[in-house]
Order: sequence, then structure tokens, then C-alpha cells
Amino acid sequence: MPKVKHRHSKSRGRKGRTHYKAVAPALTKCPQCGKARKMHHVCAYCGYFKGRPVKHIETMEERKEKREKKKKKS
Ligand SMILES: [Zn+2]
Repeated sequence: MPKVKHRHSKSRGRKGRTHYKAVAPALTKCPQCGKARKMHHVCAYCGYFKGRPVKHIETMEERKEKREKKKKKS
């Protein structure tokens, strides 16, 4: 295993890190609902991908029903 001969100063280490940065995700408009959506991903708002429903998105009413069912159980 190679070994590092000398440690870098704080500033040298930080200078190297100036090239690390967060990359903004590539967003497109969802053709179904018009909201911003990640490219090549299922829309988080309507659950559509390539013009057809892929994922079921719970509505507020469905959520409420679930919550009430849970409350009844306990
Ligand atoms: Zn959508």
C-alpha cells in the first residue's frame, strides 16, 4: 500500500474540495399534471409515467380513511 509522505495543510485540502459541488437535478414538466418531475422518473404527484398510471398516489380522503381505521383498531 502506498503511504502519504506529508499531510496537506488545511487550505490545500480545501482548495482541492472547491470542485465538489451539488448538482441540480434535471427537471421536466409532467405531461399529465404539469408539475416539475425528475427526468426518467415516475411523477410523485400523479403517479404517471410514459402516459400511463404506474404508481397509486393516495388522495387526502384515502389518507383520512386509513387514519380513522387505525384509530378504531386501537
Ligand atoms: Zn404528474
